[in-house]
Amino acid sequence: MHQLQKDSNRQSDETTSVSELKELVSEFVSERNWEKFHTPRNLAVSVTLEAAELLEHFQWAPPGDETIDDHRHQQISEELSDVMAYLLSLANVLKIDVASSMRAKMQKNRKKYPVEATLGTWKKPTE
Ligand SMILES: [Mg+2]
Repeated sequence: MHQLQKDSNRQSDETTSVSELKELVSEFVSERNWEKFHTPRNLAVSVTLEAAELLEHFQWAPPGDETIDDHRHQQISEELSDVMAYLLSLANVLKIDVASSMRAKMQKNRKKYPVEATLGTWKKPTE
């Protein structure tokens, strides 16, 4: 059993590293001998399919209704985790360091969407 599953005190975002989550997913895949199925293509497809399942929870919502009750919150949380699990598996397969990649991409986003040109608006800045 994975360390994160054994120690319930270490299950929050504040106390869990990305590396531990990557290991959790890797162990799950390895225990089932699923490495051969976890190809980059299959994982990218799976990310999108799970993202669609996440989107289903917002389908047909009445305009302006952002109500999320406990049951729906749980379902959304599970779909979010499905997306994350496939993303982390993709990161494992492609040896992507998620933290440095994320920081680099956010820095790129900061340049693309400077605060002074985007504050309070969804419109993309003109180049
Ligand atoms: Mg799912």
